Amino acid sequence: MEELQQMVYISRATFAPYRPGSGIEPEVGRILIKSRRNNPRRGLVGGLYYADGFFFQCLEGTPEAIDELYAALLKDPRHRDLKVINRRSIESRSYSEWAMKYVPSSGAVRDLLKKHRLKSFDPYRFEPAMIGDMLSLLQRGAEGAADLTAAADVQAGRRRSLWLLGLAVGIAVAAVVTYLILRG
Ligand code: FAD
Repeated sequence: MEELQQMVYISRATFAPYRPGSGIEPEVGRILIKSRRNNPRRGLVGGLYYADGFFFQCLEGTPEAIDELYAALLKDPRHRDLKVINRRSIESRSYSEWAMKYVPSSGAVRDLLKKHRLKSFDPYRFEPAMIGDMLSLLQRGAEGAADLTAAADVQAGRRRSLWLLGLAVGIAVAAVVTYLILRG
């Protein structure tokens, strides 16, 4: 029988929130699309929670697959200060349906924070019991129904608009300069 492990790590997002408090972050949407494409190949499943600029991710699979992904995670510039907060052997995967389940910021997590007198989601301040509670919420919580492709497209669309605006300004400036030169 293959050896299975569960690993939980936390990290700080390096990107600025695009739409604080509403919908899925475009960057998180892109991470989920990539995870759902890559994880089945490695036999990995898990859950991802993102709120207030922090990630909480649980990964389950063989130790080799977890190590391989973690090496990539360490190099990913979209987050920093990665800290493994739990790693243990398991008998079976608890997220069997999910290549990477995404649970949106939920009332249940807010209740958990309130119970432990935390004002925001900062997993670096979690005590061991809170890590266990958070894991069960991640496993039990409803999957976010957000359209990931649309979320990821929002940011690409914003970059495209900025680029087009820059181009339009450039053309306008060139036209004015040409006009002034021709007028002598
Ligand atoms: P590519 O997608 O081709 O990426 C090549 C390189 O570019 C990588 O070093 C990558 O870090 C970097 N990169 C890619 N997109 C961006 C971007 N938008 N901005 C900056 N750099 C970028 N991957 C999984 O496969 N499974 C997971 O469960 C998973 N969970 C993640 C959780 C978090 C919190 C974060 C931040 C990332 C997660 N990733 C996950 C992504 C992971 O870190 C790697 O980016 C990904 O696995 C690399 O995929 P790839 O080999 O197909 O290479």
